[in-house]
Amino acid sequence: MTHPYRRVLLKLSGEAFGGGKVGVDPDVVASVAKQIAEVVATGVQVAIVVGGGNFFRGAELQQRGMERDRADYMGMLGTVMNCLALQDFCEKAGVQTRVQTAIAMGQVAEPYIPRRAERHLEKGRVVIFGAGSGMPYFSTDTVAAQRALEIGAEVLLMGKQGTDGVYDSDPAHNPDAVKFDDLTYDEYLARDLKVADATAISMARDYSLPMIFFSLDDDGNIGRAVAGEKIGTTVHN
Ligand code: UDP
Repeated sequence: MTHPYRRVLLKLSGEAFGGGKVGVDPDVVASVAKQIAEVVATGVQVAIVVGGGNFFRGAELQQRGMERDRADYMGMLGTVMNCLALQDFCEKAGVQTRVQTAIAMGQVAEPYIPRRAERHLEKGRVVIFGAGSGMPYFSTDTVAAQRALEIGAEVLLMGKQGTDGVYDSDPAHNPDAVKFDDLTYDEYLARDLKVADATAISMARDYSLPMIFFSLDDDGNIGRAVAGEKIGTTVHN
């Protein structure tokens, strides 16, 4: 079987790791790791950016009285716990991994070194990027676009929890919300849609990086997206 992609960047939302709760649900992470192992076995190179919404979101802590930048650092540290959980279950599934973080923490991860990340990928290792960009006021979606561009991934696969693509309004609040199969970056931005933040979308647009939004709730969806099956919503030029 031929695959459309040689190297992919998979963004996993933090919410998926918690299975809807605060913290990490090991069963969910094991299932995601199994899907990643299946993809790696086909020879596709997989790099991952992990979110942290299952622990902290800076914006939410700010609303409750914290300084935004410190709250954002808490958000970034949360992503690292998800990385370690994912690393553990990937290794149990027989996949070699390296975690690289944008905030130095030598005891648990390598620092973010893009060229080294590419070497790992060439050797069939999965590289898991944690701690976001290391900078407050960014999202892990934006980091996913940046890392995808820097390591030369051909597509950005946006694995989400609780939604199976991009809708014209929030399906949680509007039962008549309509899902897009395809959407241009400009249309996404003009409609001010919120599945990923505008910074991530505009970066992908400016460098022509296709994004596919899909649900992590269905087992096997990561493999389907990597195989080029039409699932979720594709955002492109
Ligand atoms: N964050 C940040 N800079 C980054 C990436 C993330 O400050 O480069 C913080 C921000 O507070 C964010 C939190 O980390 O709310 C968790 O990341 P995100 O909300 O993107 O996670 P996801 O929604 O994908 O689970």
